[in-house]
Amino acid sequence: MEESALRREDKKVVAVVGAGLVGALNACFFAKRGFEVEVFETREDIRKAKVVKGRSINLALSHRGRTALKHVGMEDKQIVSKGIPMNARMIHSLSGKQSPIPYGKKGQYILSVDRANLNKELLTAAETYPNTKLNFDHKLQDWSAETGLMTFARPHGSKTQTQADLIVGCDGAFSAVRKQFLRRSRFNYSQTYIPHGYMELTMRPRNGEFAMKPNYLHIWPRNTFMMIALPNLDKTFTCTLFMPFEEFEKISTGDEVIEFFQKYFPDAIPLIGAATLRRDYFRLPAQAMVSVKCSPYHIGDKCVLMGDAAHAVVPFYGQGMNAGFEDCIVFDEIMNQFNEDFSAVLPEYSRVRVPDDHAIADLAMYNYVEDKNYNNSYFFVFINTLIQQ
Ligand code: FAD
Repeated sequence: MEESALRREDKKVVAVVGAGLVGALNACFFAKRGFEVEVFETREDIRKAKVVKGRSINLALSHRGRTALKHVGMEDKQIVSKGIPMNARMIHSLSGKQSPIPYGKKGQYILSVDRANLNKELLTAAETYPNTKLNFDHKLQDWSAETGLMTFARPHGSKTQTQADLIVGCDGAFSAVRKQFLRRSRFNYSQTYIPHGYMELTMRPRNGEFAMKPNYLHIWPRNTFMMIALPNLDKTFTCTLFMPFEEFEKISTGDEVIEFFQKYFPDAIPLIGAATLRRDYFRLPAQAMVSVKCSPYHIGDKCVLMGDAAHAVVPFYGQGMNAGFEDCIVFDEIMNQFNEDFSAVLPEYSRVRVPDDHAIADLAMYNYVEDKNYNNSYFFVFINTLIQQ
């Protein structure tokens, strides 16, 4: 087993575990403060990878997330200029009628951004700080709350151990950092899978232009089902179909896919293309959605959870990443308040942040409501889907 001492000079070492959206942004926040920042990510460098796997192709960036990006000086140039403003939801009725519902006042909008591009830009921004090092192909296996010693698995079966003053768990909904919390007394934890899954389908451009009006978040509300579509810079739309797993499983042939779309989303068939639908529906299985709540978010002065590692939420409020980005600002503000004294900052962060993140999780779940009276099934009150903040 290799062993490396991270400490350089006498600066404190902050280890950020997970270089997804929240981890990469967080690295910038800590680097800006002058800590020695070491980022550990299980995947290879997505800027060099041929295929980038993620949880959704694009997502809605709102005011909350943009404020955090602004704090590290990367809101406008790299991100907003590459996003597509969505001023309103566009509701598609069964008959094909389209009705816009604005998000707010004239001029207000949320932005459709490419997840992979946002993640790449954040990694590049983190790397511009000389006090930050990105370590890819490092999968956290275990760590000690007493010493801050972490053990990582490397691709060819070897292991590395490193130590840090503070470990920041940004390793997503199935966080390995959080596992250590579960072994401790007075740690509250709950996890709920909803019966719905999601599947992404691509709507290609028509005659070189967007197949639908681009500055909208398109929604096809269908009781227990829902499809949404967000625009991309290459003039495609990413359509996301949400429905109960048992419904996904009922469809097993190309003809059944077309029959299903004919019944529920007839206007989408010519836009996506019947042949594409027949093929793409079976490309990947539907993905599960989990809601995770826990508290507190810290252990002593050694470790803190942020982003989905602290609060994975269902996507019906469009706020998972945005809330994770806001975690970074809130933590940064508390660092100012308590002169970077981790023993005071971490408990204060849990005290302030847990109720707000739980509220976001509840709002997201509220947009996806269980109606026992409706055939004992779930349906969406999605009309509020993807709100401003
Ligand atoms: P992740 O993005 O999951 O990143 C975690 C990182 O940690 C990954 O890079 C992973 O490889 C790494 N990692 C995991 N385990 C280890 C380990 N053991 N060691 C080292 N590294 C590890 N949010 C919005 O704000 N707006 C939206 O419109 C929106 N739409 C969504 C649509 C869908 C279908 C889904 C599923 C989610 C959506 N979200 C949206 C939520 C958003 O995707 C998440 O909140 C966001 O990705 C959380 O970022 P994160 O960095 O905390 O976690």
